[in-house]
Amino acid sequence: MNKRLLSFLLSALCLSVCAEVNYQVIPLPQQISFDKKGGYMLLTEGMTVGYPAGNQQMKRNAEFAAEYLGLSVTEGKKGADVSLTLGLKSSNPDDYAISIGKKGITIQGASESGVFYGIQTLRKSIMNETGEIRLPYAWVCGSPRFEYRGTMLDCARHFFPVSFIKKFIDILALHGINRFHWHLTEDQGWRFEVKSMPELAEKASVRPCTIIGRNIGLSDPDNAIYDDTPETGYYTQEEMRDIVAYAAERYITIIPEIDLPGHMIAALSVYPELGCTGGPYKVWGRWGVADDVLCAGNPKTLEFLKTVYGELCDVFPSKLIHIGGDESPRVRWKACPKCQAKKQELNLSNEAQLQTYINKEMEAFLAERGRQLIGWDETLEGGLSENAAVMSWRGYEGGKAAAKQHHQVVMTPTDNCYIDYYQLKNHDRQPLAIGGYLPLSKVYAMEPVPSDLTKEEAKYIMGAQCNLWTEYVVSPDHAEYMLLPRLAAMSEVQWLQPEAKNYEQFLERLTKLEQSYRRLGYKYCTVHE
Ligand SMILES: [Zn+2]
Repeated sequence: MNKRLLSFLLSALCLSVCAEVNYQVIPLPQQISFDKKGGYMLLTEGMTVGYPAGNQQMKRNAEFAAEYLGLSVTEGKKGADVSLTLGLKSSNPDDYAISIGKKGITIQGASESGVFYGIQTLRKSIMNETGEIRLPYAWVCGSPRFEYRGTMLDCARHFFPVSFIKKFIDILALHGINRFHWHLTEDQGWRFEVKSMPELAEKASVRPCTIIGRNIGLSDPDNAIYDDTPETGYYTQEEMRDIVAYAAERYITIIPEIDLPGHMIAALSVYPELGCTGGPYKVWGRWGVADDVLCAGNPKTLEFLKTVYGELCDVFPSKLIHIGGDESPRVRWKACPKCQAKKQELNLSNEAQLQTYINKEMEAFLAERGRQLIGWDETLEGGLSENAAVMSWRGYEGGKAAAKQHHQVVMTPTDNCYIDYYQLKNHDRQPLAIGGYLPLSKVYAMEPVPSDLTKEEAKYIMGAQCNLWTEYVVSPDHAEYMLLPRLAAMSEVQWLQPEAKNYEQFLERLTKLEQSYRRLGYKYCTVHE
């Protein structure tokens, strides 16, 4: 056998058992520079991950790295094959830099969260490899474009168990997403335990029946067909504290939402005196927007809200607290003597300002606790309270208006971010969805900063978020299918500068990430439009 053939055969053999990593993951690192002289390090069993002694967050980071890479943890950095370290000079705490060279691997972060993102990049680089893993000598660094990288999950229309909430948080972490906006209450179910008002968890969390099929455009929903399977469930405060801690280890902040003054029928079903008509009310079994909302003129309404939000702040340390504020019709307020008296007393010119009055009360209440109010873009209608942040869902206009008034904004317009919409044109190939059409490519194409904002105004766009409403999303598997891979596209919107985005290349990298989804047992949509 001649030498050339022998070396060809040897390298072919090596290709079949040695995987050489290219670090091209999702979200794509900002820079990947291979060592000009070449060379690689072999990742082998018995290697260790070291971290700065005494730093508990870095210790947890080291445990994650060891788990993902199949290594073991050692305290201190001396002699470690993978060293986790702080001190990367950057004003962005989420920045990371990985160097792979003769001396091993160093993952450096501008803060502990940056180190975590570096670990995720390395993890995704090698996750699908088997046998001997070759890490080419290289310098890899990443820096997210936006500080706020969110995903919303509605656990009120359908209840999702704690085990799935943790899996959902793992999915966010895999994609470099750092905010979990948790939608906890609705007309159709109350999921947040309030210890001083136990009936909310016990009774308002129970929906006796649910409309079958889609109910948009039904002329007579009262005579529609309902199933007889109760939808129940709520999170105890202990469970939620545990989830908050689980998310925090993964550098994810949970922003809880108690939607007010609309979307409150579940609460009204146990406290009918808080509605303008006095009820009775039943936890809604159908979807859509209800006319019945909290009475703005009843002083008990604010008492109720402050009790709920007091306990909410005890459970969730997040600076931002979401008050909802969307889809709250004012028809009951127009006909309610209490609401009209309040309007006169405050010298207001319209009912929208009654909502602003409630928002201002809530903003002051939250500010006393060091928190900041965020609401859907309807909160702009009667004038924004002073430090309120806005989540723009009805297009980009609300977010633009808020940024021009120097309010912080999260962009989550239906057109690019509502992942409860169908992801394929052919509806027969997917489970029932609310309607709409939001293919992967359209999520990827999102640009959160409108081009007509000035540089100064653009600074108020904190970031972007996908929203998963769950009227028709009935199980964890179904939720995963709606999330993936659209979250992968969102993560590049959140991390990459516009000029670095490239949909064709994204799809190539997605092949590898989807292989990881399969390894991790995640359901996802395999067709991309
Ligand atoms: Zn009223």
